[in-house]
Amino acid sequence: MYIVVINCGSSSIKADVLDHYSGKYAGRMSIERIGESNPVMYVDGNQEPLKNAATHEEALEVALPRLLDCLPEDVQVAGVGHRVVHGGSQFQRPVRIDDEVEQAIADLSDLAPLHNPINLAGIRAARRIIPDVCHVAVFDTAFHATLPTRARSYALPQDLSDKLDLRRYGFHGISHAFVAQRAADYLGADLRDLRLITCHLGNGASVCAVEYGRSIETSMGLTPLEGLVMGTRSGDVDPGILIHLLRDGEFDVDSLDDLLNQQSGLAGLSGVTNDMRDIIERAGEGDDRCRLAIQVFSHRLRKYVGAYAAVMGGVDAIVFTAGIGENSALIRHRVAQRLEFLGAHLNEEANRAAELDDESPVARISTATSRTHLLAVETDESYAIAEDVSQLVLEKDRLAGHRPIPVAVSARHVHLRQETVEVLFGEGYQLTPRNDLSQPGQYAAEETVRVIGPNDEFSSVRILGPTRNIDQVEISRTDEFALGIDAPVRGSGDIANTPGIILEGPQGRVELQQGVICAWRHIHMTPDDAKHFGVSDRDVVEVAVSGGDRDLVFGDVLIRVSPDFQLEMHIDTDEGNAANLGADAKGTLISTPGQARLQRRKTTFDPVEAAAE
Ligand code: ADP
Repeated sequence: MYIVVINCGSSSIKADVLDHYSGKYAGRMSIERIGESNPVMYVDGNQEPLKNAATHEEALEVALPRLLDCLPEDVQVAGVGHRVVHGGSQFQRPVRIDDEVEQAIADLSDLAPLHNPINLAGIRAARRIIPDVCHVAVFDTAFHATLPTRARSYALPQDLSDKLDLRRYGFHGISHAFVAQRAADYLGADLRDLRLITCHLGNGASVCAVEYGRSIETSMGLTPLEGLVMGTRSGDVDPGILIHLLRDGEFDVDSLDDLLNQQSGLAGLSGVTNDMRDIIERAGEGDDRCRLAIQVFSHRLRKYVGAYAAVMGGVDAIVFTAGIGENSALIRHRVAQRLEFLGAHLNEEANRAAELDDESPVARISTATSRTHLLAVETDESYAIAEDVSQLVLEKDRLAGHRPIPVAVSARHVHLRQETVEVLFGEGYQLTPRNDLSQPGQYAAEETVRVIGPNDEFSSVRILGPTRNIDQVEISRTDEFALGIDAPVRGSGDIANTPGIILEGPQGRVELQQGVICAWRHIHMTPDDAKHFGVSDRDVVEVAVSGGDRDLVFGDVLIRVSPDFQLEMHIDTDEGNAANLGADAKGTLISTPGQARLQRRKTTFDPVEAAAE
């Protein structure tokens, strides 16, 4: 399926036509210096004249038909993807564009005044020029929608933050998500089993903690100015400096904006250029300012890597990508040189030799015995966008048949091992079934336990039987605050790196070392249901629920498939209350992931081969 991907920057446009499955390009066009007196256009690498390019819309009116004309005859465009920088809190996944979505993107321009209006201009022009196919907006912020509240909140007065939407949104999400998946494919692992730190180091730069497939921390914030040292952007500075400069009277808001966005970063530190290649060259010739630029750049990134490893309680792979990350052995070396404490050992030879291209987009630059993998990974945002677009195009057909999904609200409960039951209730004790649950073989027991957290405790928490091979306590977000612990959102059984808690029964106490989770909302289904909905085990989907007086769409719903299951969606009490659900609530699956991401061409890391090195 061929997709046109359009990426409008401040003075440039890139448009690619590529196959969503293989990532192979059928045509590429770019325009530079829009709005200047001498704009230039390249079609498939050849420069062509372009007269009318005062605005992005004007430029696209000429260039897009030209690109379509150059495509081979058998290439039919099935959809158009638009990279949109800011999706605010509203857009947490790609969305089909209609007039309402256009308006919403326009409304978000306050948060991204330099980007969203230009993205919108591209959308409007392309919808006019290619009217008969699905247009999809893919947001740079969307991947970071899963940031937990503690990571996305600034320590400002909450009322102010709420009023002005002041929070960490994060950017480069399309690239972070893409290289995380590519790294997992290369390692032959499921992304949902990995803790990754992805470092996108281009002119803009950001780092992201990808824990089991979700972004849980990232260095860019409300705007793309926070975090790492970038080409011309400062990244983190003491906000007191800004107050100081404004008070001093030398800077007003606009000149401060220009200082931080255009004159700082590598350009500001080096005093000569924002281009890392030139900086490295000059540093080699003895330029002290360029040396400092490299040091500050690498130090800041290493600091973030250490912090994100701490946030995730460990890291399985560190990924370097974009212009600097893919190409600079020197920067990778500097960042990785003191990460041995994380079990990350750089293979100097492999680092120097790493060369990425479409045939080998991943290079492993850690030693064979390195517990944490170090990888250089080629990013391809157009390919990522094309995949997202193809999913929405395919989805329309797949969702044709409707099968309602019963929704059940789970109150807080515990699952126990037989050994734990015996400590709490006495030797040889067996749970007594009280009533059957909907999933075959499962029951609520007569027995309850007291759950004791550092802040508060709950008496009479129901035990669900039969006993299992791990102890697991499932609570809601509200319970979490009451108990005083941080329980991550996890699928059942996935309790590595979760907090523990104290359980008390009539005969004894157990101090669990781990096992407290906030259950990831999920749907149990049979293989037949999965076939009907076009989904697979561990897919993540969106479900609209009704049956209360507050209809709600739940994103991020995990699919669990087994012949032993019965079709039912499980949510916790907070989620049930949010929708005010009654007993006969039903859900409708309204979006499913396409198969493209799961079927991505693999370049798998072979551990046997690695061990032989
Ligand atoms: P953008 O964010 O504009 O897409 P890129 O991902 O193309 O940026 O990255 C641009 C940066 O990558 C520049 O600083 C450039 O100097 C740097 N870069 C590209 N190749 C190399 C290299 N071989 N060594 C060091 N830096 C490089």
